[in-house]
Amino acid sequence: MELLPIIIFFCFGLVFGSFYNVVGLRVPQNNLFKSDRSYCPNCKKTLEWYELVPVISFLIQLGKCRGCKQRIRLLYPLIEFLTAVCFALSYWLFGVGADLIIALIVVSLAVIVIVSDSVYMLIPNKVLLFFFPLLILTRVVVPLSPWWSAPLGSIVGFGLIFIIIVVSKGGMGAGDLKYFAVLGYAFGYQAILLILMLASVYGATITGVLLIARKVDRKSKVPFGPYISLAVLTVLFFGQALIDWYIGLFN
Ligand SMILES: [Zn+2]
Repeated sequence: MELLPIIIFFCFGLVFGSFYNVVGLRVPQNNLFKSDRSYCPNCKKTLEWYELVPVISFLIQLGKCRGCKQRIRLLYPLIEFLTAVCFALSYWLFGVGADLIIALIVVSLAVIVIVSDSVYMLIPNKVLLFFFPLLILTRVVVPLSPWWSAPLGSIVGFGLIFIIIVVSKGGMGAGDLKYFAVLGYAFGYQAILLILMLASVYGATITGVLLIARKVDRKSKVPFGPYISLAVLTVLFFGQALIDWYIGLFN
């Protein structure tokens, strides 16, 4: 495998990650296309081109706005870096083909959900309504085997989260419910179970660490979407390896 295309995918990932930050931040406020220039949310200063270079600008400005010295959320460069790594991994693992397209769509959805849910505690319907038909279409071109694994995955994902919501009385929200229905279609009924299991493990572990570090308390509402997205990315790239490892434990 040549290095150059991997680097190119990484750079595309940085640029797309930067765009997904904007999508995740603006779609819930209905102003994705209203103002075309990015600005500091604190002092409203319009950002110059050299303040918009993914990751690099953040590092050069030491994480502060040049106008008002307000700290810039660490989330933004992290999202850019995460998208870049995932784009490069997608190409590296899947090569050029239909699987690469599916991987890039799934990565895009997962990343936008992390942004919206971290900042606003919601997963926008508009984002799900954009990606759901796209994933249904790609599953027509590249069906799972058996093909009915996709619709069944949707039903299983929706059903499980519905039960969890009823039992836990609000541990998860309607956004998580719809997100799982969309993901179930892309991954099928078996992988969606693995995603739910991993998301719970990530959620419990990270919330546990945050509790000990006193970054959150027991009453804080913690968005679950980012953990679902991290589980999605894990299963997308390492699902088969995980399953092989798990089965290997019993042999
Ligand atoms: Zn500012």
